[in-house]
Amino acid sequence: MSEERFDVIVVGAGPAGLAAAYTMAQAGLEVIVIERGDYPGAKNVMGGVVYRRPTEDVFPDFWQGKSSPVERNIVKQSLWLMNKDAAFSIGYGSAQFKAEEGYNAFTVLRAKFDQWMAAQVEEAGAIIINETTVTDLIMEHGKVVGVRTSRDDGDLYADLVIVAQGVNNLLVQQVGLGVDLKASQAAVAVKEIIALPTGVIEDRFNLEKGEGATIELVGESTMGLTGTAFIYTNKDSLSIGAGALVSQVQQKGVNPNDILENLKEHPMVKPLIAGGETKEYMAHLIPEGGYHAMPKVYADGVMVVGDAAQMVNGMHREGSNLAITSGKLAGLTAIEAKERGDYSSKTLSRYQQRLEESFVLKDLKKYRNLSHFIDDNTHLFTEYPEMVLAASHELMTVDGTPKGDKFKAMFDMVKSKRSLWQITTDLYKGWRAVK
Ligand SMILES: Cc1cc2nc3c(=O)[nH]c(=O)nc-3n(C[C@H](O)[C@H](O)[C@H](O)COP(=O)(O)OP(=O)(O)OC[C@H]3O[C@@H](n4cnc5c(N)ncnc54)[C@H](O)[C@@H]3O)c2cc1C
Repeated sequence: MSEERFDVIVVGAGPAGLAAAYTMAQAGLEVIVIERGDYPGAKNVMGGVVYRRPTEDVFPDFWQGKSSPVERNIVKQSLWLMNKDAAFSIGYGSAQFKAEEGYNAFTVLRAKFDQWMAAQVEEAGAIIINETTVTDLIMEHGKVVGVRTSRDDGDLYADLVIVAQGVNNLLVQQVGLGVDLKASQAAVAVKEIIALPTGVIEDRFNLEKGEGATIELVGESTMGLTGTAFIYTNKDSLSIGAGALVSQVQQKGVNPNDILENLKEHPMVKPLIAGGETKEYMAHLIPEGGYHAMPKVYADGVMVVGDAAQMVNGMHREGSNLAITSGKLAGLTAIEAKERGDYSSKTLSRYQQRLEESFVLKDLKKYRNLSHFIDDNTHLFTEYPEMVLAASHELMTVDGTPKGDKFKAMFDMVKSKRSLWQITTDLYKGWRAVK
């Protein structure tokens, strides 16, 4: 590999690494991105919804023009609570999301989206090397000074290394910034891309041309395990997936693939995917530990961005935006470090400060106790969906029973599953976890 020295080496060409590289390359820094996949996005998995504003903050107008990597503009989003044969849905759709100035989020396919971002990064002057795994960070006198790669003579040196390697944060652990994730701090997710004609998707999801919809599914969708499932519309395919905490999958001995197969057979889901052909199958981990699971994000000569720093807000299905924003903030800090000629942790602490000032750490801090709350209260994913569905079934069934009797039956059914005291306690604990 090249003997050349770089200003910055970025490990991983996902949204976090590419946002960092783009920010720095635009400012004239000499940047190299090392990616283990055959190309950026080759190995990457996401639902995947990307959010307009944080993404265009780095890649302006990414959603416009013929070469745009986006699939559909999302105009409505729903949440389904599920039992074995029914779904209770709530959702929000808005005409404002249909007008260009109101575009809010888009579906993407990572193979296309990551390659598109990588092309922008290369155009800005950075080098991207694929099919190369960073195996170690090279340290000298307690400072990170480069990376060791899977290639022969593959050591590379730089003033700064940005670790953007995603959820498997081995390099972060290696330099003592963080520890391995616990099984309760990560979800394992499986996903399929199912091809369907464009018009069929628009008919089934009640969409106009080019519009998109998302559905998050809770309850039986993950066979009662703590987790969620999703169905998102792409141009001519659906992304369908499900994920549950690794700790739960291990405890209950469930194969994650069975969760997805079970979901695809659900009577409310089956008609949405009927006649579709599975084009891709993939599995990936999602960091779920939140703020308490975060490593230290900087040290002498190194910064950590995106999933490698556990920056995912699972409650709101946000990860790509935290990755892109953290990448940008690390990039800005690197530019400052170059100007000062100082890559010590003192200068790089500005990255932490920038994160604190942004929505990234504000949100992660706000939800810092949520993963404990969810881990300690697994019944939220079983009893509450069951309760809502049983009550809805009673109310929706017109069978000559007077409404007063129906309401009493619903009330008795709710009380038989969880007492009013237990419900109040759950609500209070939930409020405390996010207040
Ligand atoms: C099933 C699923 C659904 C999701 N849905 C959504 C969603 O709808 N919306 C959303 O905002 N977020 C979603 N997320 C989360 C989102 O995908 C991540 O938060 C985001 O991709 C993180 O970006 P990143 O760049 O930090 O990491 P990644 O996207 O994981 O990229 C890391 C890159 O580093 C490379 N790499 C790893 N190790 C090495 C190494 N040693 N050497 C060289 N290269 C290496 C990888 O190949 C990869 O290209 C989802 C995640 C999953 C798994």
